Amino acid sequence: MKKREYIAPTIVQHQPGHMNAQAHGQTAEYCASIDGVPVPELIAKHGSPLFVYSETQIRNAARDARRAFQSRYPDVQFAWSYKTNYLKAICAIFHQEGAIAEVVSDFEYEKARAMGIAGRDIIFNGPWKPPAALERAVVEGAKIQIDHPDELIALIAIAEKQGKIVDVAIRCYMDTGVRPTWSKFGFNADSGEALQAIKRIFQSKVLRLVGLHTHVGTYILDPSVYKRATEKLLDLAEVARREYGIAIRYLNLGGGFASHSQLHYQYLPSESVVPTMDEYAEAICPTIHARWPKEVPLPKLYLETGRALIDDAGYLLTTVVALKDGLCQAANPDAEKSNGSRDKAGYRSGSTGAGASGYLVDSGIHLLYTSAWYQMNVRPVRPIAGPQTERTLFGCLCMNTDVLRQSVVLPNLIAGDALVIHPVGAYNLTQAMQFITYRPAVVLIGEGGTVEVIRERENLQHIEALERFPARFQ
Ligand SMILES: *Cc1c(COP(=O)(O)O)cnc(C)c1O
Repeated sequence: MKKREYIAPTIVQHQPGHMNAQAHGQTAEYCASIDGVPVPELIAKHGSPLFVYSETQIRNAARDARRAFQSRYPDVQFAWSYKTNYLKAICAIFHQEGAIAEVVSDFEYEKARAMGIAGRDIIFNGPWKPPAALERAVVEGAKIQIDHPDELIALIAIAEKQGKIVDVAIRCYMDTGVRPTWSKFGFNADSGEALQAIKRIFQSKVLRLVGLHTHVGTYILDPSVYKRATEKLLDLAEVARREYGIAIRYLNLGGGFASHSQLHYQYLPSESVVPTMDEYAEAICPTIHARWPKEVPLPKLYLETGRALIDDAGYLLTTVVALKDGLCQAANPDAEKSNGSRDKAGYRSGSTGAGASGYLVDSGIHLLYTSAWYQMNVRPVRPIAGPQTERTLFGCLCMNTDVLRQSVVLPNLIAGDALVIHPVGAYNLTQAMQFITYRPAVVLIGEGGTVEVIRERENLQHIEALERFPARFQ
């Protein structure tokens, strides 16, 4: 029998959106305006890159969180987590919405005080509270949450020196199912360490334990984690009451509620996996109601929600400055004009050896530190029809690691196209590095559509302001 002729299989690279019954010829998702303000207008006036915050979205998030908890619990107080975003205008919005301040360092403590927040309205967290800051916090009556035994001992000394009884809380960590457990902070509530701290505070005579705190982690997608954390804090409160007659006045469940960013390994879109504020509140509030002894006044509930209240309200506008398309660009300079008919082989050769295929933009990971964990949504500003393919979004730094998205589905863009990266409102500003470029301006779109600069773009004077240049070099 004659051997059948070998026919090589045809392998077609899958390109989402390309030659696809669902997406071919459709216009790619785009973002022309933010809160009614056209993005090109924002860039024309304030430059690119540009951080943009929506006051409407911030207030809506703050109110939704308050509603979810206050409808389930009589005594709730939110504390704005400064490190999530401490621009004055942003903090002011949260304070106007009723939040006190939550700080994690002496710098943040000073910032909250300079914002006009009284010491008693500052929750002082953090693994390192320098002696001077700790003394100040004691004098000003801040809510100090002790992180470790050495801090406990330092506080006893300060209280003795100042000759007063100091109200304190302890930060605890426990197994709630979150991996890894954030055991760097606080006292272990499972091993008996937290109980030992409680005993030490009781014996000190100068410290009075009034609160129990935990911050289980960040971007917690499973609300039941908060139920377990609440139960373990309640267990501790019960033992403190039974053993030492201590009346716990507040429970602090920290932060960690998820925003609508999407982790790199996360397959489902954030819309389908991120719990609502009601789901988080439902995990915490009924748990306290069910377990708290009827004869004891209910404790105040503090929440230090950060990312969930600000991330979605922040955008980074950036501009494509060059196309990194390997062979494709050179071989077919007219590709752009036909907007979509770019030669497919060109992309393939681009991605397999001729060089990386993608777009170079005028921002980078120095501005988007959180891109290490989250795949940010990238949308063009104008409607673009035609194929959408996977590209890499390169940042403008001279570092090979400066990649904002290793793979993101985009339509064909040209140099000069503006892009909207979202959500980026949490942590990026506070962690932004000054490295080989100026950090961009930040604007706030007010509720009436007004656009106000809340941080100027950096210039050379800002960056060199603290340098001292010895005369012998001049
Ligand atoms: C960072 C932090 C928060 C805020 O966390 P999110 O995940 O942004 O909500 C709250 N409390 C403490 C102690 C923190 O360190």
